[in-house]
Amino acid sequence: MSEFDPIESLADMRHEFGEHGGVNMSVEVSTTFTVMDPETMPAVFQGRYGPEQGGCYLYGRHFNPTVYVLGRQMAALEGAEAGYCTASGMSAITAVMLQLCSVGDHVVSSHTVYGGTFALLAEFLPEKTGLDVSFVDMTDLEQVEHALTDRTRMLFVETMSNPTLRIADIPRLAALAHARGATLVVDNTFCPMIVSPIQLGADVVVHSLTKFINGASDAIAGAICGTEEFIVSLMDLHKGALMLVGPTMDPRVAYNISVRLPHLGLRMVEHSRRAQVYASRLASQGVATVYPGLPSHPDHGLLERIQNRGYGAGGILCVDLGSAERANRFINLLQNKDRFGFMAVSLGYFETLLSCPASSTSSELSEKDQEKAGIPPGLVRLSVGYTGSIEQRWRQLADVLEEIGVG
Ligand SMILES: *Cc1c(COP(=O)(O)O)cnc(C)c1O
Repeated sequence: MSEFDPIESLADMRHEFGEHGGVNMSVEVSTTFTVMDPETMPAVFQGRYGPEQGGCYLYGRHFNPTVYVLGRQMAALEGAEAGYCTASGMSAITAVMLQLCSVGDHVVSSHTVYGGTFALLAEFLPEKTGLDVSFVDMTDLEQVEHALTDRTRMLFVETMSNPTLRIADIPRLAALAHARGATLVVDNTFCPMIVSPIQLGADVVVHSLTKFINGASDAIAGAICGTEEFIVSLMDLHKGALMLVGPTMDPRVAYNISVRLPHLGLRMVEHSRRAQVYASRLASQGVATVYPGLPSHPDHGLLERIQNRGYGAGGILCVDLGSAERANRFINLLQNKDRFGFMAVSLGYFETLLSCPASSTSSELSEKDQEKAGIPPGLVRLSVGYTGSIEQRWRQLADVLEEIGVG
């Protein structure tokens, strides 16, 4: 297990007080900033003054003080040198790719990545920029090693793949990428607090804050963590992907997410605790259950080796009910009869969200590719929430299982 504790790292940060001594930080909504004398302005443009050099700000699409605080919190969470936030997870991912890669560069990516990321790498960026992308099974390290060349700029993986919940062996993937001079970028959206990729050798971490980190399904947001040099490069006035493409986070959103970070650890513990209870009980009733916290999961041991102590195995679990028809009956009854959760995509909400990946979030894959990726038609993904009591929720789940004749 990793010795890093993201809760301690967050608590070690300097507390940000409000303008009048408020215990919460003030929200800086201004889009432009004044200087005390005319000489300061050119110095800010040349990067000699900035957030860390004299507390100088320029323009809202460049660093904003409130967004900057959330960026530093994200950096503390991941144990990174620096971090900054964006308007969405997708824009964080896109900005990192545009910053790292140039026309014709080679990229190796896991083939089980978020649908939007897959579309970006499979077609959009290759068509627009000539990016040359090889997709690999990231759990097959030999295959990854063979795909990497001296032309490879970036290796892209997700800590926990969706919906198969396979775990990336980040220390070994980092070693393979670095041996070829490539940058390892990890999407850690499924595992905040649980796994800290930068502690394990990754160079850049991206997040969709829309999921667990915000936790209320009421904001779209993203973050990028990495070296100070990389984060500053993203904001370069002439060459920075964030500055030039401009997926700017609203400071009000930054504030709202920032005040939810102090209980992210508690929430992740509870998401994981409940997912572990349901997964164990489902498995013991004979339901085909996929959850990395179960010893039957192929990456159970790997996750135990790389995870931070005390946050469990995550809030997502899957069950295979054998057919799409039965899966649909299952989620319909769970929502409309027992009110166990909601039929909706996305994850990390305080209520349980239920979806069938084969016909929703993974529907861009052909039937054959779905089979190859290990996504059977009867698979149901549960993003386990924490409202109600465990036993109340289990009664609802057990009732529906009985009604559809499973377990
Ligand atoms: C949702 C998600 C994204 C995209 O994030 P948005 O905030 O919706 O843009 C990227 N990666 C993963 C793993 C996700 O779950």
